[in-house]
Amino acid sequence: MKPGDLIELVLDDEVLKGTLVQSPDPETIVLKLSNGYNVAVEKSRVRKTVLVSPLVEASVIKKPRQVEMRKGLPLISILHTGGTIASKVDYRTGGVVARFSPEEILAMFPELNGIANVTSRLVSNMWSEDMRLAHYNVMAMEVRKEVESGADGIIITHGTDTLHYTSAALSFALQGLGIPVILVGAQRSSDRGSTDARLNLLSAAYFIANSDFAGVAICMHETISDTSCLILPALKSRKMHTSRRDAFRPINALPIARVCYDERGIEFKGDYRKRDKKSRLGLKLFNEGLKIGILKAHPNMYPEEFSSYRDFDGLVIEGYALGQLPINAVDEKTNIHSRNLEELRLLCAKMPVVMSSQSIYGRIQLDVYSTGRDIKAAGVLGHLSDMTPETAFIKLAWLLSNHSKDEIRLLIAKNLIGEIAERSEKEAFLI
Ligand code: GLU
Repeated sequence: MKPGDLIELVLDDEVLKGTLVQSPDPETIVLKLSNGYNVAVEKSRVRKTVLVSPLVEASVIKKPRQVEMRKGLPLISILHTGGTIASKVDYRTGGVVARFSPEEILAMFPELNGIANVTSRLVSNMWSEDMRLAHYNVMAMEVRKEVESGADGIIITHGTDTLHYTSAALSFALQGLGIPVILVGAQRSSDRGSTDARLNLLSAAYFIANSDFAGVAICMHETISDTSCLILPALKSRKMHTSRRDAFRPINALPIARVCYDERGIEFKGDYRKRDKKSRLGLKLFNEGLKIGILKAHPNMYPEEFSSYRDFDGLVIEGYALGQLPINAVDEKTNIHSRNLEELRLLCAKMPVVMSSQSIYGRIQLDVYSTGRDIKAAGVLGHLSDMTPETAFIKLAWLLSNHSKDEIRLLIAKNLIGEIAERSEKEAFLI
């Protein structure tokens, strides 16, 4: 038997079924189980080994084919950027490494072609942790090409780790977008039975083809089973679990819609911007050379942590709760905190410094406690914002790229395109 074969290991007390992965140790057998975890079993424990089915490369089963355009169906363009959704398991290592081509992904999910006329193009083939501001500009320009060539909607496949940064970045960069741009990722690679790629892709395509929504959004699993997907607000969502398929949740907001693909149902949860193919798309891109940091408050902070950002263009702080930081010298153990405040003042004199909360949910309120008032007086921006730190980071980068420092002071905590909720809805917690 060879790596990639589906096998059963009969042990004294149980039978393990999984895909054989090359083992680093000759005395053990490694199986990838259907839940995605690898298990190592000592060979001496194995009573019998059964070959269930040999490995067949997915790309061999389904050859990519040229898609014919059919009348009456909308045109969806899929732009691929990489991530797990474009990956397959490498059974020599057990890791997810190799990449599918866009054509192979289309061939793997042929139902896509029943929903729309689908074209597909590779923009990049990378893990999303490597994305930089420059990649947002490339994606925005690629979206413009598709809009100009008449697409009714665009799906961007993307690694999930930074998908919510990209969704925020495209929301700011694509001004006047009249069609849907839906970001789709997967927590399990597309070649696996448990992949979420299929439902996420089909739901995104179905949503584009059967709704009048316009704008940027995210489409990912609503629950851990394959029942429904959520269309999530691009500026108010976050990856809230390292591995679950329903990891993406709205933060301080409700989902835009639920898509039940099997029942062909779309349920909108609130207001949304309507499609307008005549709308003129104007790009407002990112200055790729900007240096913006994120500093997380923690116990035992030192002034050097603040001063290390002196040469940056901007800083987002993940403060505690309402926006607190250790700046009070309350006894001899905390004397150093007055220097934290001094360094914070120096940073604010040089660059926009924006407060966000490591509590994740809720709003920054710098007027409640004296600590917050001192932080505000030092020049920290973001009072009353309910943006996630990730959206605050992207908004700051975009403002620094397109506005003066004085304008940024006014605009950072003002809702421009839905990044700040006017009201805090009690239902918008732990959805
Ligand atoms: N870290 C990779 C990425 O974000 C893989 C995770 C994923 O795609 O879900 O691209």
